[in-house]
Parts: sequence; structure tokens; C-alpha cells
Amino acid sequence: MGITAFSCQAERAYKLAAEFRSRGVTVVMGGIHATMRLDEALQYVDSVVTGEAEEVWPQVLEDARDGTLRRVYHGGIVDVAKVPPARHDLLPTGYAFGSVQTTRGCPLNCHFCSVTAFNGKRFRRRPIEHVIEEIKLIEEKLVFIVDDNLVGTSKAHITYAKDLFRALIAANIRKRWVAQVTVNMGEDEELVRLAAKSGCFGVLIGFESPAREALIEINKKFNLREGQTSRESVRRLQRNGIAVLGSFIFGFDVDRTGIGLKLAEAGFSSGVDILSVMFMTPLPGTRLWETMESQARIVAKDFPGDWKYYTLNLPVANYMHLSWDEMVDEFISGFRAFYSYLRIFSRFFGNLLRTRKVYSNLVALVCNLMFRRNMELDAQMFKRLDMTRGTPYAKKEPVRISRPV
Ligand code: SF4
Repeated sequence: MGITAFSCQAERAYKLAAEFRSRGVTVVMGGIHATMRLDEALQYVDSVVTGEAEEVWPQVLEDARDGTLRRVYHGGIVDVAKVPPARHDLLPTGYAFGSVQTTRGCPLNCHFCSVTAFNGKRFRRRPIEHVIEEIKLIEEKLVFIVDDNLVGTSKAHITYAKDLFRALIAANIRKRWVAQVTVNMGEDEELVRLAAKSGCFGVLIGFESPAREALIEINKKFNLREGQTSRESVRRLQRNGIAVLGSFIFGFDVDRTGIGLKLAEAGFSSGVDILSVMFMTPLPGTRLWETMESQARIVAKDFPGDWKYYTLNLPVANYMHLSWDEMVDEFISGFRAFYSYLRIFSRFFGNLLRTRKVYSNLVALVCNLMFRRNMELDAQMFKRLDMTRGTPYAKKEPVRISRPV
């Protein structure tokens, strides 16, 4: 059995591996968590493939068949031109979204992000004809382009993105798609128009923080480029029928009480349709992990059990100016401000009247209602966690922990 997992799924992956191994099935694990925590993963599975697996996978299968499986295979960084189309025909149907990847790696290198540690800093682009060929294999009408940064940052990256969108239009694939991008996408009118014409109806943009010091702290100075304004980028996307989800993180060393409302305010002022806020989480393999580990600030570290708290929706570390109680309070106050019914409906009608784009605004409305509902569930979960006894997480209680000096 081949198995992959993000860090927050690692404990579950190991349990599944144990169950299959107890039935005599050989288990090979790959993916980002197993790559970053190789020694840990090796305790639970027969073999680990680190890095990108495509090129080494035939060898793994051959060795497994011959009974000569090695404990570790290193996939490294592959040539994406050699990556075959995914076997969409093997997947069960009935999902809302199909998925496809067009690029790997990210030219930026944010402190908290594991993409460059895993996929490298070089922005690798699949040949456009391969992407088109693969999208045609997807049955679903909606597609999630899973790239970490679809448009990239340089002129060459943008040219590729435009060529890709032109090819999607020419192929007449009749699918709508969403993707993760950087804020510069909204600065190029031609790029936005081509994206919309090729089916784009939503993008996630990582704004990360309204605080200049925080963007410097995490090495996302790209969002501080002179002359760029988030609001104009967001408006241009919306005018073309593309809803914008603004993604923010909090818990930076500069964040203090009141950050929740500041994040909501950043959502209002940038004009995003949807706001996503996550707890700063030191993921293994990142520079943030190394920094926090060296400062003894990682609190949830009874692994592998505590990996399940690394969902980005829970506090797991010691934050500079905020206790866990305060982190949770800030999270809820920011969400309540952004997702009040009054705000949700005024945002919807305001954007609808301004853009006259029904589809993207309806999608945004549904997302707003879902995020509001999730926020309520999160609030209940926080209460339950506080009350739980006997879990590694609760044992670490302080739900209010001492602050570093
Ligand atoms: S821009 Fe996004 S994908 Fe790229 S390094 Fe930063 S957080 Fe990661």
C-alpha cells in the first residue's frame, strides 16, 4: 500500500499503516511529512520515499515485487516534463472538484512555508500540452489547480500562465477552476481576463498579515512591493468574475491583543470576498520550525499523537505576546467581525451591484456562510479541547502558557 500524509494526518496514516501491516500488506509512505520526519516515519512503515516520487516509483514497485524493498528511496526534485498524467480514471467519481497540477515549487521562500523545502525554489512548469491532456481526463466540471502559486512572480512565469490560459480557452474544456496565486495576478489586466475566460472563478491569495514587520519577519516582502495595492488587485479580479479568498496568518512575534479585529479590518480594506485566518504553525522542515524549536517554543510536541493539532486551526506553539486563550479569542473576534450576517449580505449585494458577476458572487456568498458555520464549530471545538483531560494536548495545558522572555 502506498500512503501519503500532511503532518496533521500523520498519526492517522501510521494507524492505517499498522492495520495493513498486521494483515501482511507492505506499506510504503511518501509525501511531505514522511520526507521531513524520515526517522519517525520509518518506525511505522516498511519503506519511505522522500521528495517527489514519480521517477523513483517504478523502482519501488519492482523491488517490492522482487522482495528487495529498501527502507528509503530518495525521489528528490523531478523533471516535471516527465511526470505522466494522473490516472483520473482510477479515482472514484462524484467529487465536487477534480484536481490537476501545472507547476511545482515557488520562487518565494516564506519562513513558515514548507513548499520550497519540499519542491524547491525553482518554479517548474509542466508542458502546457500535458496539462491540457490531463484536464481532459477529469470528469468533474469544477477543477482545483493545486499549484502552490499558479502564476509565479517573474515575467517568464506570467507568460507561461497566459499561454496556459490561452490553451485552455482554445481546448474549449468547459470547466470552471480555482487556484492559489500571489497578489501580482490582479495587477495584470490581460492575465486576469485570460484566466476568467478560461474558466477561473476564484483564487486564494496569501496576504499573510496587515503588518509590515510581520511580512518582513516571514520573508514575504513580495507583498510590500512599491506601487502594489491589494485593493486594486482584488477589484480587478472581482470585475472579471473571480472571487478572492484572502488568506492571513496570526501569532507573529509582532502580533498583540487586538490582532483579530485588525485582520478583519484588513479583509474589509482589501475588499476580499472571503477571509481565511490561520494560526501560525511551525511545520516540520520549515525555517519557522527551526527558529521556534531553537527557542524551545514548540509546545504540542508529543509526537506522533500531537501532529493531529498541526491543522493550522489550533495553537501549538508559544506565541510572543499572546497566550493560547488570547489566540483563540482573537481568532473568534476577527471572524465574528468579518462574518456577521450584516457584513456577509452587504458584501454580497455590494459586490454583485458593482461587478454584475452572478456566479462568482454566489460562490462567495456560499463560502461566507460556510466559513461562518465553521467558525461556530471551531468555537465549540476550542471549548471542548479546554475541557478535555488526558489528551497530550490538554496535558500541556496551560491553555494559558507562560510567555517567552
Ligand atoms: S508564496 Fe505561498 S507557496 Fe510560495 S513560499 Fe510563500 S507561502 Fe509558500
